[in-house]
Amino acid sequence: MPYRAPIAEFEFLLAHVAGFDRVAAVPRFAEATPDTVRALLSEAGRICEEVLAPLNAVGDRQPSRLENGVVRTPPGYAEGYRAMAEAGMTAISASPDNGGLGLPITVTTCVNDMAGAACLALQMNTLMTQGQIEALEHHASEEIKALYLPRLTSGDWSSTMNLTEPQAGSDVGALTTRAEPAGDGTYRITGQKIYISWGDNDFTGNVVHLVLARLPDAPKGTKGISLFLVPKRIPDAAGEPGVANSLKVVSLEHKLGLHGSPTCVMQYDGAKGWLVGEENRGMAAMFTMMNNARLGVAVHGVSICDAATQAAVAYALDRKQGRPLIEGGTGSIVDHADVRRMLMEMKAETFAARAMALDLAVSLDLGHAGDAGQAARAAVLTPIAKAYGTEMGIKTANIGIQVHGGMGYIEETGVAQFARDVRVAAIYEGTNGIQAMDLVGRKMADGGVAIHALIDALEAEAGAHPMGAPVVQMAQGLRDVTGALLAMEMNARFGGSVPYLMGFARVLGAVYHLRAAAAGDAARGALARFYIDRLLPEAQGLFAQARQGASGLYDLSPEDLAA
Ligand SMILES: Cc1cc2nc3c(=O)[nH]c(=O)nc-3n(C[C@H](O)[C@H](O)[C@H](O)COP(=O)(O)OP(=O)(O)OC[C@H]3O[C@@H](n4cnc5c(N)ncnc54)[C@H](O)[C@@H]3O)c2cc1C
Repeated sequence: MPYRAPIAEFEFLLAHVAGFDRVAAVPRFAEATPDTVRALLSEAGRICEEVLAPLNAVGDRQPSRLENGVVRTPPGYAEGYRAMAEAGMTAISASPDNGGLGLPITVTTCVNDMAGAACLALQMNTLMTQGQIEALEHHASEEIKALYLPRLTSGDWSSTMNLTEPQAGSDVGALTTRAEPAGDGTYRITGQKIYISWGDNDFTGNVVHLVLARLPDAPKGTKGISLFLVPKRIPDAAGEPGVANSLKVVSLEHKLGLHGSPTCVMQYDGAKGWLVGEENRGMAAMFTMMNNARLGVAVHGVSICDAATQAAVAYALDRKQGRPLIEGGTGSIVDHADVRRMLMEMKAETFAARAMALDLAVSLDLGHAGDAGQAARAAVLTPIAKAYGTEMGIKTANIGIQVHGGMGYIEETGVAQFARDVRVAAIYEGTNGIQAMDLVGRKMADGGVAIHALIDALEAEAGAHPMGAPVVQMAQGLRDVTGALLAMEMNARFGGSVPYLMGFARVLGAVYHLRAAAAGDAARGALARFYIDRLLPEAQGLFAQARQGASGLYDLSPEDLAA
């Protein structure tokens, strides 16, 4: 199925919705001129259309497999990876001192959006490397930076993040992997990690694992976790991949989707590792990679929103079925009101989810440049963008199947793959439930100051727009429910957290649509009207649910649930 890189859409969003000009005005991003960004996005888009998109079905049908302890990737993945690496797609935002392009995260976000739509399983590999580069740039010693960063930014080596263990999923603090000091400044890492994306491959010279582990006598919980860099092959004196480290891929998971991406059970048996950051402060260092990945996974949702929508629109314009009740139709199913409803919903959600991801990316860029208010804004937006983006990926993929009718359920159209591939995005990088708890917990720990600042800005902006009255009203509802949650004890807040997050996202989405309507043509205005009339009202029901807190949730006993 052909994929079309949405370059013009990015240009519109960057200029009129995400406010990218504020990022481009930061001296350190002086290189990010419209011409440079356009050239980079066009070249990345070409690679996505011509090289990556044809690999998507290949990886689905011929998954990565384990052969004598070595991961063999699907045919063509090595070439696809090389094309991405040569175009600098692993290191767009890495520092030029380390071989990166030094461009804003907002630009990386556009590129990841296209690569994920073209071949999500392979893009997952570069996402891991992008996150690891950022974590090392912030937390690693100068020696580690000098040795590893140039090889990661060039794409010669790739990366993983190792948090999860069988007993430590959402509760990372329960991990038991051990790190013993070796007496020479290095450590010996022992333990098992599960679900490790791209734990191995057959196209990079080395795989660099970032592993969370506990030092002897470390405090319990997350305060006793340290972060270690553990290479598959230990670099020799010349920095070339040397002897094999004491680690292996034990097995690969058989998954619902993302078949091209090897999801590995990793065994570390006294593997040589180097501390990154301070002892017992590993979570802080890993959070740099995790926050990067949260935006990256939000974008997985956006990617699939776009890919599913492109496929559904193309099918609906072609498929003839039934007699339309409108004058002058095309004769295809696109004439039917219910098919139009589905396509409009897909387009409206895709726009809002993409705008939210770019809005977050701009706030991250401005925050990194020293704007504390934008950093606080980014902290609030991160869980919302991750959960909303991924839920919309799942939703649009499902609607896309429906638009295709029976053919949607048949694998050869490729649209069922979108639904299978994107499902995990709501689970990994912190489940969407954990994101919602983060929003009403840690992100309200300031008493709601940052959240209220965001709501005030949304309300003021909506109030200045001719179509904004219902959005103003919903922003006021959001403020009220925020106050209600702040007054609740924590478990009650958690009980209302998911509907609160989704209602919050609805208000944000409406404001992005208003911005587009103000700057764009009649079609932008029509899509905004659709969103405000049909999707924004959902927020009212969501806020009513959020106000319930945990009330009633424990009224059935575990025995009642099992009955
Ligand atoms: C394909 C794939 C790739 C992955 N890649 C990686 C990777 O590269 N590196 C890595 O480290 N991990 C990776 N993971 C692991 C992933 O991050 C975890 O699966 C995820 O964090 C959830 O942990 P869990 O599976 O143990 O579920 P659990 O933590 O057991 O959660 C089960 C359910 O309970 C809920 N829950 C759990 N605790 C709470 C709580 N305190 N309050 C409310 N609800 C709660 C969850 O939201 C969820 O709905 C990957 C997983 C998959 C499937």
